Amino acid sequence: MLEDNYKKVKARLKPGVRLVAVSKYKTVEEIRAVYDLGQRVFGENKAQEMHAKQPLLPPDIEWHFIGHLQRNKIKYIAAYVSMIQSIDSLELLAEVDKAAKKNNRIIPCLLQFHIAQEETKFGLDRQEADALLSSAAYSSMKNIRIDGVMGMATFTDNQTQVRAEFASLRAEFDYLKSRYFPQAAHFKEISMGMSDDYLLAMEEGSTLVRVGSAIFGPRDYSLKLY
Ligand SMILES: *Cc1c(COP(=O)(O)O)cnc(C)c1O
Repeated sequence: MLEDNYKKVKARLKPGVRLVAVSKYKTVEEIRAVYDLGQRVFGENKAQEMHAKQPLLPPDIEWHFIGHLQRNKIKYIAAYVSMIQSIDSLELLAEVDKAAKKNNRIIPCLLQFHIAQEETKFGLDRQEADALLSSAAYSSMKNIRIDGVMGMATFTDNQTQVRAEFASLRAEFDYLKSRYFPQAAHFKEISMGMSDDYLLAMEEGSTLVRVGSAIFGPRDYSLKLY
């Protein structure tokens, strides 16, 4: 099953789009099986879960953090995380910068935008992103790098709405690129699209899709993995 699922998702990727295999609530054995099929980029949404799995799996895995990150949990992932996709405040970014400095590294980050209609989802709006990127605090940070944007569409069957939300994230990316990162080759990522909507997301310009259940099957939320 896993192999068929993985190959199907891989076959559907547009050229240039990278796959983040979202492994939350999945065991080390399941992750290893997908690793053995060639996958190297995995996504987790809890710092302690990533922290529990990372030492048990090959060191060439690129771990992307995709969940709401509490400041006191950054220490669990700062030494090895390849990208933090879910920066939703200047304060969080400042803490990531500090933790990265302690580990003598630069941590690539994405700014998470609130593009859904659901209030429960996290993320910045344009005004907040402008304030963050224009701040003196941001200019002084030497151990983070902003590589693009991330967003989650509303959980709905309404394809027109989902497409419009993805297009709005693409517009935020274009705006930030031209205003703050015109010369920065690293500012190139638009992380959008999950199992149910990654094809649509790629049509709207996604460069990173975050796919979990379409690869690993449904999640068992009663599992205790850390
Ligand atoms: C769980 C999760 C995903 C993957 O969801 P699926 O529907 O299983 O593909 C993608 N992005 C984020 C931020 C998630 O938390």
